[in-house]
Amino acid sequence: MSLAKYKEKRNFNVTPEPKAKKIKSAQKLEFVVQRHKASRLHYDFRLEMEGVLKSWAVPKGPSMNPGDKRLAMMVEDHPYDYRTFKGIIPEGNYGAGIVEIWDHGFYAPINEHSEIIDEKTILKDLKKGSIKFVLLGRKLKGEFALVKMKTTEDNAWLLIKHRDEYAVDTDYSCETLTPLSSPINKALKKELKNKKK
Ligand code: MN
Repeated sequence: MSLAKYKEKRNFNVTPEPKAKKIKSAQKLEFVVQRHKASRLHYDFRLEMEGVLKSWAVPKGPSMNPGDKRLAMMVEDHPYDYRTFKGIIPEGNYGAGIVEIWDHGFYAPINEHSEIIDEKTILKDLKKGSIKFVLLGRKLKGEFALVKMKTTEDNAWLLIKHRDEYAVDTDYSCETLTPLSSPINKALKKELKNKKK
């Protein structure tokens, strides 16, 4: 696990984002979903593994509907401290814009029989391009899979909800589950107002 790319892309004298530092969490593994208004609004899905956060940019965000396959572009590892990061990345910096936390909690890596596995095993699965895990978030719950696409670019994966007691069959949109008072929504409203002028 390396944070070299993360470091390379950022100037820590300017951005308030966490410095590149590996930390092992105390016990349970954590996950976070950040909503990020950069050049495009998207979601960032991050799973703690071996002291860093394995990260995917998910344009539409995750879904609790097993019928949705959400495109997830794997990006550089982020430091463990990033899981609590929210705020403004100043203009001119990588990912400039606003970051807010959309969901967070613990997660457990599992195998195809839904049995809990250890970090070493999920890392092996990750290298093979297919991981399964259980999320214990406020919004996201139950079993999910992240599967690398074979036909396209190297970093394209699909984030898929598995059918379980938490799965829904109705339309699922992350945007409708975001409070209107969120910093990004306030900024979007302001932009819209300015456009109308
Ligand atoms: Mn992002």
